[in-house]
Amino acid sequence: MAAKQSRGSWVASANQADTIFPIENLPFGAYRLTAGGDGRVRLGVAIGDQILDLRRLHGISATLNVPAALANVLDALAGETLNAFMGLPASARAAFREFLSSLLGPDSSAREQLAGCLVPQADVQMQLPCMVRDYTDFYASIHHATAVGKMMRPDNPLLPNYKWVPIGYHGRASTVVVSGTPVRRPSGQVRAADAETPSVGPSKRLDYELEMGIFIAEGNEMGEPIPMADADRHFFGLCLLNDWSARDMQGWEYQPLGPFLAKSFATSISPWIVTREALEPFRRPWVRAAEDPQPLAYLDSPALREGGTYDIQLELLLQTKAMRERGEAPVLLSRSNFKDAAYWSASQLITHHASNGCALNPGDLLGTGTMSGPTPGEAGSMLELSVGGKQPITLPSGEKRSFLEDGDTVVIRAVCETAGAVRIGFGECVGTVVAAKG
Ligand code: CA
Repeated sequence: MAAKQSRGSWVASANQADTIFPIENLPFGAYRLTAGGDGRVRLGVAIGDQILDLRRLHGISATLNVPAALANVLDALAGETLNAFMGLPASARAAFREFLSSLLGPDSSAREQLAGCLVPQADVQMQLPCMVRDYTDFYASIHHATAVGKMMRPDNPLLPNYKWVPIGYHGRASTVVVSGTPVRRPSGQVRAADAETPSVGPSKRLDYELEMGIFIAEGNEMGEPIPMADADRHFFGLCLLNDWSARDMQGWEYQPLGPFLAKSFATSISPWIVTREALEPFRRPWVRAAEDPQPLAYLDSPALREGGTYDIQLELLLQTKAMRERGEAPVLLSRSNFKDAAYWSASQLITHHASNGCALNPGDLLGTGTMSGPTPGEAGSMLELSVGGKQPITLPSGEKRSFLEDGDTVVIRAVCETAGAVRIGFGECVGTVVAAKG
């Protein structure tokens, strides 16, 4: 595969062949220095193995020939959350990206001033990039929906609405946490298959879900839907997301109103948001099979057909406590691609969400749903890999898993890599299961 050469940066680590943060990426995040500093959360942009601190950039802006139109953009980035920046018009965000790219480019005249704005990524603890006020989780992979449906309804796995309406539920924003945060096994009400009455206790069927998270940029007014033609300007960017799920609690509680406590105890996200602009080279045509219903007009557009999906390679890995103690690296459990997994595009999810007049706000988070691809090796949950727990998987360590055990670490990674484009990555979404509260 002939990857394109990066245009390069004066930040040397951004030019290394294996970096996921070349100058073509420039993802946004928030961090706190591990030691020293004033202890406050600061916004930054990843470049190589460094972070360009945006508060410091704001502080030296008088020395930088900032275009007048960008003054308020820099003000929006001096705070502790990205929400103000996310809510700016798409044109202002794109102009800032160009400005950043020139500042960090090989011919930058600001190199000396900016050297004091760099912080090594090794010296920070990443934080949530924005305040997530609302979180919705969709169910956008038809392969996941079919596989899970088969376990409950072997003869009729896919419900009749699936191919017409993007299915989702309102999740809980209060427990969205950044990668690295431990995840406590939830306790709750379950009913065992052979029991007449339910019981309460730690979940025995704790699972992960390999998802992507869509961050909303500009919001819409309540009562004002977002047409497909405008969806992109409301689409800030993507992260990786693990929708931790307690399958035993879910099975008992989900009818008739959908997931509740089986999902709301934790949702992990990767710390860097890769912007829509950075994903442009990885756009691919969105295709709906001829034998399937074509989307209703409000969920269709020429831009969708031309390039409404993205080529993003996803990986899910597991490291057990025993593996960690022996110094063994996480092992790959599955691999899939957003373009093959997502039956509904990011733009369709945004448009559908607002189609009834529901207001979306800057920083709102939409989970895509488990990104399982068409083949068994592309299953994005352990529920699918172990066929509902009936066929435990054997790890290279010899350990078996039907669901997650305490001490298990789940890692999601993703890169975009294609001929004619510079490779970029998302980093990792990591979480380790800790025992239920005793
Ligand atoms: Ca989910």
